[in-house]
Amino acid sequence: MAEQKRAVALISGGLDSMLAAKVVMEQGVHVEGVNFYTGFCVEGHTHAIRRAKRDREKRNNALWVAEQLGIKLHIVDVIEEYKDVLLNPKHGYGANVNPCLDCKIFMVKKAETWSFMEDNNFDFIVTGEVMGQRPMSQRKETMPIIARESGVEDRLLRPLCAKHLPPTLPEREGWVDREALYDFHGRNRKPQIALARRYGFTDWAQPAGGCCFLTNPDYAKKLRDLWEARGTRDYELDDIMLLKVGRHLRPASHYKLILGREEGENRYLEGYRNTFVSLKPTSHNGPFGVIDGNPSPDDIEFAARILGRYSQARNAPNLTLEVRLPDGTINPLTVRALSADEIAEDWHV
Ligand code: SF4
Repeated sequence: MAEQKRAVALISGGLDSMLAAKVVMEQGVHVEGVNFYTGFCVEGHTHAIRRAKRDREKRNNALWVAEQLGIKLHIVDVIEEYKDVLLNPKHGYGANVNPCLDCKIFMVKKAETWSFMEDNNFDFIVTGEVMGQRPMSQRKETMPIIARESGVEDRLLRPLCAKHLPPTLPEREGWVDREALYDFHGRNRKPQIALARRYGFTDWAQPAGGCCFLTNPDYAKKLRDLWEARGTRDYELDDIMLLKVGRHLRPASHYKLILGREEGENRYLEGYRNTFVSLKPTSHNGPFGVIDGNPSPDDIEFAARILGRYSQARNAPNLTLEVRLPDGTINPLTVRALSADEIAEDWHV
């Protein structure tokens, strides 16, 4: 009996990667999934925080996909390594701060490093790319770049659009039947949806715009603002998590106020009380706020007045708040809320 071949599939949590893995599994290949956690992934994170979305099922889509497929999933933390991909993309950015081509090269290369290690002993890598679906990384001209620059070459199989590409090693060696692979092309999702139905899948994640926050224009604006304010294009995990939460206002270059927009975000921000100066209204209902940067006492007072605008004290003579320093010192502060006219449009990051 021929030895069963082993493939590692990049699982983002979306439909395409789920189908790609399934197509190969249907051909008798042993498939395991790998998901790279960059910190920017669109997952249940914000749904879990925001109370407004609490009815929505909270799930890690990559894990959920693996469960649907009945395969093992390896989640690999690449937060530190990914910084270089995001900050210095050889192939540049897409419409926002998404370095999709470099990102794909990185992930395929990383999968190779991980999967061809002796212990794992995989024969090839599978991705859910569809030619012409994404403007940067999934074009006819860029797909060979991913195979080449990742070093994986023809051990990279894209089952959903394989028929548009030269035969890869798994096809030439007969590990998979090229005739049973697909020729999906372009942005039309109907073929994928039809295939999903054929496999009996009735549910799948549908991230708008892409698999990570870097394709989101609002998120990209906040990230650029962070880099500009700090004078360095660097970040820590807390920074990029906080960009997903709350209302961000920057009244001056040296500090930014982040206000919870609802109860779930307020609670989330409270977790940063030991990191930032924080503001908690006590006389009226209102958002919890944290101040990122180096605020002076005057800045803290001004930030409290901004917060007042978003509280129930907006029309009251005064608002009292608790100002907490990261060392635990707490002081009361009473201010007058700013009026709508006093909130400059360009403070909104
Ligand atoms: S959308 Fe994000 S995770 Fe997906 S390829 Fe682009 S940069 Fe990478």
